Amino acid sequence: MNLPSDLYVGFTGSALDRVEPARHDVAALTALAANPAALLLDMSDYLPAAADGALVWQPFTPLPPEETLLLGLIDGVPRFARIDPEAVAAKRWPELMALLDSLSPGEAGTYATARSVLDWHARHRFCANCGAKTAPHHAGWARLCPDCGTEHYPRTDPVVIMLAQFEGRVLVGRQPGFAAGRYSALAGFVEAGESIEEAVARELREEAGVVATAVRYVASQPWPFPSQLMVACIATLADDTVTLDMAELEDAKWVDRSQVEAALAGHQDAVFGAPPRYAIANTLFRAWLVETR
Ligand SMILES: [Zn+2]
Repeated sequence: MNLPSDLYVGFTGSALDRVEPARHDVAALTALAANPAALLLDMSDYLPAAADGALVWQPFTPLPPEETLLLGLIDGVPRFARIDPEAVAAKRWPELMALLDSLSPGEAGTYATARSVLDWHARHRFCANCGAKTAPHHAGWARLCPDCGTEHYPRTDPVVIMLAQFEGRVLVGRQPGFAAGRYSALAGFVEAGESIEEAVARELREEAGVVATAVRYVASQPWPFPSQLMVACIATLADDTVTLDMAELEDAKWVDRSQVEAALAGHQDAVFGAPPRYAIANTLFRAWLVETR
């Protein structure tokens, strides 16, 4: 299907021009850092300053190379974040979730970029090849091992998230950690040696005991908790008999169009609570409504 152009996909549409060549060009990087207009995204505790739906930037003064993350340019102005050598891995604070509700998807995308890279530095201080301590490299977009010379790059882990449909209804599931009443599309990590379509079919089989006869891609979004790429799909099933894997899902149920519409509208009497707007599961429900209109 073609995703309607007005459909909201959280964390996408960042205005960043990533100027990748400057990461490898010391003279270019030095010039960007010395630009008096350059700006810093203050990411203390991975919480950005924001106001009126936009990130708030601070004046930037050049940092040592091992603390410099060049995010890119926005409106031609260099944008940086600081790699804190003492930082610990990020958590998901409730106030961040409230903040994300207020950011535009493009601003959230810029935040997602900074957060995922900074969090990766905090989680990957040692060489996976030889165990030596590594240091930031390439303007914060890699780490270099001084002992064996291996370069390490920020990881992105693909996760499939899918609405399974059967005769005008979709299957929604609830994980034990979800907020009260919340149901969403089923999801799982793509494993080594799998295609997206195969991962969708396997996860549906494992979690709900259902057989997909067709899978198609809808849209994707970065998900910086810590570094997933969410790949949203719609799967058509052979039948609607569900056998739950209780280790994965606490409950699952079939819902129809009117029930999905009520959930997305946040109605008090909706049969389930929809995922937040910035999550691609929300986009997926909206895409399914458009497709089956
Ligand atoms: Zn090494």
